[in-house]
Parts: sequence; structure tokens; C-alpha cells
Amino acid sequence: MIEISHLCKRFGELTVLDDISLTINYGEIYGIIGQSGAGKSTLLRCINGLEKYQSGSVKVDGREVGALSTAELHKLQKQMGMIFQNFNLLSRLNVFDNVALPMRFAGLNPRKPEHRERILELIELVGLSDKLKARPRELSGGQKQRVAIARALVLNPHILLCDEATSALDPRITQGILSLLTRIRDEMNITVVVVTHQMEVVKQICERVSFLKDSRLIQEGRPEDLFVMPNADINAFLGKTDETLPTTGRNVRIFFTENAEEAPVISMMARDLNVDFSICRADLNDFRGQILGSLVLNVKEEDAPRVLAYLKKAGCIVEEGN
Ligand code: ADP
Ligand code: MG
Repeated sequence: MIEISHLCKRFGELTVLDDISLTINYGEIYGIIGQSGAGKSTLLRCINGLEKYQSGSVKVDGREVGALSTAELHKLQKQMGMIFQNFNLLSRLNVFDNVALPMRFAGLNPRKPEHRERILELIELVGLSDKLKARPRELSGGQKQRVAIARALVLNPHILLCDEATSALDPRITQGILSLLTRIRDEMNITVVVVTHQMEVVKQICERVSFLKDSRLIQEGRPEDLFVMPNADINAFLGKTDETLPTTGRNVRIFFTENAEEAPVISMMARDLNVDFSICRADLNDFRGQILGSLVLNVKEEDAPRVLAYLKKAGCIVEEGN
């Protein structure tokens, strides 16, 4: 478990983390999202002890990271694998030797049968068994990240920290990496912390997420809690401030906060009230298999009161526009 409480971190005069408190549970896939410069990477580096902090507390498995001796810190760091946007592979080493690198640093011989077996097993897990001897330059971006994931797992960590792990990859490849991370969590039962500026990543795999803005934690919850009915900060982050909607009639936004089972309500309403409307905006997203989001209906001015009353009575969350 990772427990962060009232964490403050400054670089000189600059406050980079301002009173951050959050808890990440065992076996969870936890997201930290926010714009570039929000402090996400610094927060991750405080968790693995690469950054010192001025006040507050960061506890991993009950131990204060900032109070560990160098030897204890190194031990803790071995229990945390890390992957990055730019993969950080050594270009002169092949896939096997890149994955083996943390073992070498830890003084373990990768040629020893049990170590070799572990390396091969991980290379197989990430789907690169046919690339053992390939150098990084012979691999695609997605394949490089797979090597980096195998390398991050080679010392059997129980936490995997991912810093913008998919930000340099195209959407289809990102999909594959996200499925792989979920599979790793499921099969190895490790905790995965995902730092990203991509909402796509968070909604697809994270069970809970924190939104950071200007060094502060603005909101925490399930991805659907943050993104289905986004507050002003999150709308700004998503670039959704200048939505164009019809200026005639009345716009009614319906939120689907549980699986879009509420959808039939719209056709029922059309039948029951005998009204016409147009769907002028649909913002539905897949949150780990649940389709959630909002729809905007444009209805005639005179129909609006009946439509709103009907939807509210049916238990829908609605918001009236102009
Ligand atoms: P993010 O990962 O969300 O983009 P970072 O944690 O990298 O944000 O950076 C947060 C802020 O801290 C930025 O303003 C950045 O310039 C500053 N910063 C990061 N690392 C250092 C450092 N080593 N020295 C001084 N300022 C830093
Ligand atoms: Mg960063």
C-alpha cells in the first residue's frame, strides 16, 4: 500500500507538490492525471525515493520513504519497477540483455538457469520471444515499451510505476500496452501506478484516479466520477470549454452515470410525450467496459418543461442549457 499524506515538495522557491494526500491500495491500477508541469512525475519520484520532500509523508508498505537509509532505499527501489515514455533501453544491448540489466545491477547472474528462465518467461509474457537477440533499433516503439515492461518486472517488484508509458505511442499500440498492463496486474497481482496526461489511458485501465493541477490534487475518484460529469477544471483540462450547441430551442444534457441502460428512456420519452428532438452532441466513453457519458438533446422551447420533467421522473441526471 502507498499512503501519501500532506506531501509538500519544493524546488527552491517553486512549490511542485502542495499538500497532496492519497492512498493507493494493493493490486490496484491507480492513475495520476494532469497537464504537463502539474507535478505528476515529481510525485512518482517521491514514491520511489528519487526525490526528497520537505514535509508530509510518503509511506510504502508502512515505511516512510524519506526516512530510509540508502541501503533500505535501494531495497525498496528493487520492489518498484518503473517504465517511461522514452523506454530508456540501452542501444548496444539486445532484448535479453536489456531485460537482464536490473539483475546485473543487483549482482545476480542472468545466465544462471533460474534467472535466465525468469527473463525468458517475462519476454514471453510481453510477446517478444522471437526477438531475443534484436537490438532496440530493430524494434518498433510498442515493442521497445514491451522490453521496458519486462525489464521493470525482472526483479519481481510488487509495484509498477509508469510515467507517460504510452505517450509516445499511437492509439492502437497504446491499446496493446494497456491490455498488457492490466494482464500483468491480474496475473502477478502487483500494484500499478499510471502517470499520464491522456484521459484515454485512465478511463480504460485505472480503477481510481487523482487529478493534479498546478501542484495540487483537485479531485480523486473512479475515472467515471471525474469524467462523466466533469467539473470546470477537468473540462478545461480536456479542452471542452468551447462546446458549440444549437442556439435555438432548448438543449438538455442527459448524463449516463451507470451503464447506458438509461438509453431506452429517450425513445420511451419520444413515444410517451410524442415530441421530436435532435441529438446534437454525444460524449459516450468506454470506462473499463461500461459505456458512460452524456448526450445533448435539442428540443423545441415549448416541449422543454415536459421533457425535463419526464427525464427527471425517470431518474435521469439532466442539465438544462439555453
Ligand atoms: P509533470 O510530470 O506533471 O509534467 P513534473 O513533476 O515533471 O510535472 O514537474 C512539475 C514542475 O516541477 C514543473 O514546473 C517543472 O519545471 C518543475 N521541476 C521538475 N523537476 C525539477 C527539478 N529537478 N528542478 C527544478 N524544477 C523542477
Ligand atoms: Mg512528467
